[in-house]
Amino acid sequence: MSATVSVNAWMDEAAAAITADADRLTQLDSAIGDGDHGLNLTRGFKAVVEALATGSDGLAPGRRLILAGKTLVSTVGGASGPLWGTALRRAGRSVGDAEALDGPALADALDAALAGVIELGSAEVGDKTMVDALTPAVAALRGAVEAGQPLADAIAAAAEAAAEGARSTIPLQARKGRASYLGERSIGHEDPGAASTVLLITALGRALE
Ligand code: ADP
Ligand code: MG
Ligand code: MG
Repeated sequence: MSATVSVNAWMDEAAAAITADADRLTQLDSAIGDGDHGLNLTRGFKAVVEALATGSDGLAPGRRLILAGKTLVSTVGGASGPLWGTALRRAGRSVGDAEALDGPALADALDAALAGVIELGSAEVGDKTMVDALTPAVAALRGAVEAGQPLADAIAAAAEAAAEGARSTIPLQARKGRASYLGERSIGHEDPGAASTVLLITALGRALE
C-alpha cells in the first residue's frame, strides 16, 4: 500500500514544532509585526490537538481537517488564525469523504488550501507573506507526486521549497498584513508566517502512516 498522511499526527507534529519554535516565530514577528505569531499559533494548534483528540473518532480525514480549521479560526485572533483556518477547511473540503490522504489527495488538498489563503488575504507571491512559502511548496509536492515519487520524498521536496520560499521573503518589502505598515523598514527580515508555513509543511513528513 502507498503511504498516506494521518491528519491527527500532522496536527500533533505541527503543534510540537510550533511550540518548540515559538520564540523564534515571535522574534520574527517582533521585528516586522506585533510579536504575537508564536503565541497565536501555539495557542491555536494546542486547541486543534485537543479538538481532534476528543472529537475526531470515526471522522474521515477531510472532516478532521475541517474541524482543525474551524478550531483555528475560533481560537486565533491574529491574521494567521483565519488564514490557516481557511486553508485547512478548504483542504478538508477538497478531500471530501475520501478514506485516506494519499499523494494525489494531499496535492489537491494543499492546492485548495493555498487558493483559500489567496482568496481571503489577496496576497501574491512577492508580497512577503505565508503565500511566498506555501506556493512553491504546493508546486513541488504536485510535481513530485505526478512524477511518481514516494510521498515521503514529495513532502521533503515541498518542505525544502517552502524553506527556500521563506528565505526569499528576507529582502522583500511587505505589501500585505501588519508588516506592510513598516514600508521599507520591513526589508531584511524573514516573514513570520512564511517561517511557520515551513514548520507546518515539514511536519507532514512526520505524519505518514
Ligand atoms: P497578526 O499580524 O494579526 O498579528 P500573526 O502575527 O499571527 O497575525 O500572523 C502574521 C502573518 O500572517 C504574516 O507574517 C503573514 O505571513 C501572514 N499574513 C498577514 N496578512 C496576510 C495576507 N493578507 N495574506 C496572506 N498572509 C498574510
Ligand atoms: Mg502578529
Ligand atoms: Mg496580532
